[in-house]
Amino acid sequence: MPDFVLPPPAQAAVPVAGGGAFPVRRIFCVGRNYAAHAREMGGNPEREPPFFFTKPADAVVTGGADMPYPPMTESLHHEMELVVAIGEGGADIATAAALRHAWGYAAGLDMTRRDLQAEAKQSGRPWDMAKGFDHAAPIGEIVPASRFPDPTRGRIVLRVNGTVRQDSDLSQMIWSVAETIAYLSRFVRLAPGDLIFTGTPDGVAAVGRGDVLEGEIADLAAVRTRIA
Ligand code: MN
Repeated sequence: MPDFVLPPPAQAAVPVAGGGAFPVRRIFCVGRNYAAHAREMGGNPEREPPFFFTKPADAVVTGGADMPYPPMTESLHHEMELVVAIGEGGADIATAAALRHAWGYAAGLDMTRRDLQAEAKQSGRPWDMAKGFDHAAPIGEIVPASRFPDPTRGRIVLRVNGTVRQDSDLSQMIWSVAETIAYLSRFVRLAPGDLIFTGTPDGVAAVGRGDVLEGEIADLAAVRTRIA
């Protein structure tokens, strides 16, 4: 053991359905992966390849815990997404072999300071403070891949205070889970513990203090949080 000059930070982790915990190494997120959402954000889904941004590992919010309303924003948006939990690392992964790298799947929320993102886009600056802030990644329990063998279809729904806000299907992704794993692995060597948020369908909107967010994807464990 190195002689740490500070106590090392706690390992970020996500509970696994059925027991145990998945240690989080990094969080990658895909931008604009559903055509209808790309259009609502002013993009062109036909011509834009996927792009990636990141959140800190310790941005995860688990167990249905409250998410504090973040500072420095007046427009906190929900983005309901399928999350892939990487169990086997690799670089230059072939699409046909990519799903073997998935340990499991979860329902997650890519929470976004939309006002800061809009400013960043306009000025050509990074998205980090729009996407990578504290508590920006509420996530449900991770379900082993053996219990969710086909991530190419399944209803994805987000309710806010019981009202449906986002309602789509995984089949509407522009880049499939396998293609996303393969493409991302060309930029970075994926490693066990990495999470990939795979993009949101249309219907993103602002939430405020007291709102309860509940997201479901097919028969995965739900993600739930209350904005505090
Ligand atoms: Mn997103």
